[in-house]
Amino acid sequence: MTLLLAPIRRCALAGATFLLTACAGQAAVPSGADQAVAITVPTIARPQGETAQWWFRSGAAQAALASTQAHANGQQAKNVIVFLGDGMSLPTIAAAHILAGQRQSADGESYRLSFEKFPFSALSRTYETDQQTPDSAGTMTAIMTGVKTRAGVIGVSQQPLRQDCAGARGHELVTTLELAAAAGMSTGAVTTTRITHATPAATYAHLPERNWEVDAELTPEAKAAGCKDFAAQLIDFPAANGLTVAMGGGRTEFMRAGVPDPEYAGQVGRRLDHRDLIAEWQAHHPHGAYVWNARQLKALDLAHTPRLLGLFEPLHMNYEHERPQDPAGEPSLAEMTTAAITVLKQNPNGFFLMVEGGRIDHALHAGNAYRALDETISFSDAVKAALASTDPADTLIVVTADHSHTMTFAGYPHRGNPILGKVVGRTSSYAEKSSKVLATDATGQPYTTLGFASGPGYTGASDRQPEGPKHYPHYPHTYSDIQHGRPDLRKVDTTDPDYLQEATVPLKDETHGGEDVAIFATGPGAAAFHGELEQNAIFHIIVQHAPRVRAELCRLDSCNVAGVPVNRPRYADWLKQVETPRQP
Ligand SMILES: [Zn+2]
Repeated sequence: MTLLLAPIRRCALAGATFLLTACAGQAAVPSGADQAVAITVPTIARPQGETAQWWFRSGAAQAALASTQAHANGQQAKNVIVFLGDGMSLPTIAAAHILAGQRQSADGESYRLSFEKFPFSALSRTYETDQQTPDSAGTMTAIMTGVKTRAGVIGVSQQPLRQDCAGARGHELVTTLELAAAAGMSTGAVTTTRITHATPAATYAHLPERNWEVDAELTPEAKAAGCKDFAAQLIDFPAANGLTVAMGGGRTEFMRAGVPDPEYAGQVGRRLDHRDLIAEWQAHHPHGAYVWNARQLKALDLAHTPRLLGLFEPLHMNYEHERPQDPAGEPSLAEMTTAAITVLKQNPNGFFLMVEGGRIDHALHAGNAYRALDETISFSDAVKAALASTDPADTLIVVTADHSHTMTFAGYPHRGNPILGKVVGRTSSYAEKSSKVLATDATGQPYTTLGFASGPGYTGASDRQPEGPKHYPHYPHTYSDIQHGRPDLRKVDTTDPDYLQEATVPLKDETHGGEDVAIFATGPGAAAFHGELEQNAIFHIIVQHAPRVRAELCRLDSCNVAGVPVNRPRYADWLKQVETPRQP
């Protein structure tokens, strides 16, 4: 396959609208530099012929073509923010915008979440090199490095097998955040999960096993082969003295084993290597701020805080639903986003920030639609907060998900029916008109609009809860078949935050889904997000429109004659760049 495209032209940085016009105008002027160039992608046998270099090049070609088709070449972003709604499937977005609207007594069906108002959108294919339905590690690696890889690995290619520490050496993939740090930009990672969880870890770290979050989890072989856990990799990040901002949960992974947690009696540090990573960070950044609760974060003069580390929970942060009960007070995702941007935007070179709504995924795994939708609304609030503190003329904001889930949106509920309720409306699409009575299944039982194809909402008896509707939290080990048919939901309040929607296949954990997820984008370069993209093309659209990041890739010999990064950069070269002080 050969894609013909014009090289990316330099356009004066100005308002986004003006820029589009200016670049489109220039496209008609033939000049030496404007000769069409081809990014040739070799034909390979798939999946056997796929390699890291092939993924990188095909992602670059797809991004360049999408950009040319959208006349987005030359649009330049100073700042880039990637918002990742973990597991935020299309049904999750649809149900969440209905709930958000209905909470405000507005029309839910037409209500738009903040990112649903963005001018550009695309679909993202999420499969991994070895799995039809992906996980968060391989997918976030694709988004952050431009290379698809296998499930369970972070920041390394498909070449080594999972957990092969020695074999992974030399197969590390350079991330957007690493490139931004080397380019003199500020960098940040913010999440509601442990800061060492798969999604945030894929911005700053490299390991062939996503579960090696703290050294206590590494196998003896991995330790012997020199692998370092994600918490230590975050604190030892080799470029620019570390990330400018890191916020989330996972505090005990940074504390020595046995040391008591400041917030919860009974919780203790988990590190076996005797490193106190928080104290090390504080010693390394005497002017930086370390905070572990909302009050401390609020008390900071963020516009004059050069670096920020926030670890707000021993493990994952609370769901938004439980946040008000947090003993020491916990910031919302929107508050963390605003704080991060205030720190990051002090840098005239711009910044790269990743913000994850990480617990959307957890609530879906738990089979609980209420928390999943509530988390999605709080994620939307975080995007809104970012829009309020950035300039659309210089900031590219990309909102996407890593993978889907099995939550379904079904039946024929009438317009305005509570999204967490039972279906009130027609039973069949052939029914003449919508009624205001409960729709029933073929056995005469009502059912909810939202349901799951798998998970702990299966209504057979488990070792934890009797036969019938299940409630959160439900972590069954064993399950029995349903004995008495579907439960009678007439007396059940399915809008209760703890109600678990029925699941067809009994599982302890509901599974991910394999279909496409959405990408929403705004700012310089955003127009290139259209059509159906392979997930790794997201990286390429970003770097092709972020001049500093792109220049860094060119310094790593990644670029073709037109200055488009088409060759996978070597991690060892990046390391050499950041360890050798560059000439001014
Ligand atoms: Zn998941």
